[in-house]
Amino acid sequence: MSGPFLVRLAFADDGTPAGHTTPAHAVPSHTVPAHYPADVAAPQLSVLDLGVTRGDGIFETISLGNGHLQALEPHLVRFAHSAAMLDLPTPDADHWRAAIVEVASHLVDPSGKPVDEGFVKIVMTRGVEGGSGSLLPGATTPTGWALAAVAPDHGPARRNGIRVILLDRGYRHDIAQTSPWLLAGAKTLSYAINRGVYREAARRGADDALFVSSDGFLLEGAVSNLVLKRGQTLLTPRTDLGILAGTTQADIFTWASGRGFATEYAMLTVDDLAGADAAWLVSSGRHAAPIRAVDGVERSIDTELTSEINAYLHARTE
Ligand code: PLP
Repeated sequence: MSGPFLVRLAFADDGTPAGHTTPAHAVPSHTVPAHYPADVAAPQLSVLDLGVTRGDGIFETISLGNGHLQALEPHLVRFAHSAAMLDLPTPDADHWRAAIVEVASHLVDPSGKPVDEGFVKIVMTRGVEGGSGSLLPGATTPTGWALAAVAPDHGPARRNGIRVILLDRGYRHDIAQTSPWLLAGAKTLSYAINRGVYREAARRGADDALFVSSDGFLLEGAVSNLVLKRGQTLLTPRTDLGILAGTTQADIFTWASGRGFATEYAMLTVDDLAGADAAWLVSSGRHAAPIRAVDGVERSIDTELTSEINAYLHARTE
């Protein structure tokens, strides 16, 4: 069956996994499992859930290639980092990993073989407002779930490339240091802007957008990181520029180092993009999508290197 499939995670009042640990009020493991299957077609959330009413929560999307969860541990580390930035309870990695592995195991074709490409999306919200979903840190029963589904077909974007527009994000490059309350660099559920930029791109005849800081530095895509090739060096914007530190970009850099490329985290400008030999937006789901136009100006794509990168990303087993 191809899903989607859902498991709900269960928490004790203080946000620790149900069925684990021993706070006085923890529920014994034999009555409430730490996670349990749920019907994806049935209503699951309270209308008072702060994830829904305020976008107050965090998420990760982990790709699956031939049944292998890819970059799972880096995703769990980033999930914990996002939780810390939002003063949410620290996600218990074992709790989440078990739910992810369980839900992913259902993504098989009719012969029982793992699907070629899938993903698991994990979400943790601050919980139900007025319940223990308090606005105060440390007093929250989160809502959590993991959903597994077959990936959409990213083949055309990987093969043909994407047309990108540059959009001013309206923040300086040092926003993460000057204004940490803006939560730049956390993977929060507040993605209305990230979705809106796709509509702006479509209005301008493009497929995607690349954010630029108000003081002129390249940042990230709507849901992706930028990688440039200049000679034998791969470059990406520094991860302290209020952007998400990408798991796919990190894996590409590890692979590229093994292939003799130098890799660099840098302050990059629009001129660097224009002068690069090749450019990609990279992310867990779509992998490496070569940029074939910027603001309507065509640029060449490196078909061979793109195929190599995507073959590597697809073949990852961890
Ligand atoms: N930047 C943003 C804003 C994202 O939402 C994402 C992924 O969804 C990325 C970058 C790429 O991260 P990853 O490669 O870990 O999927």
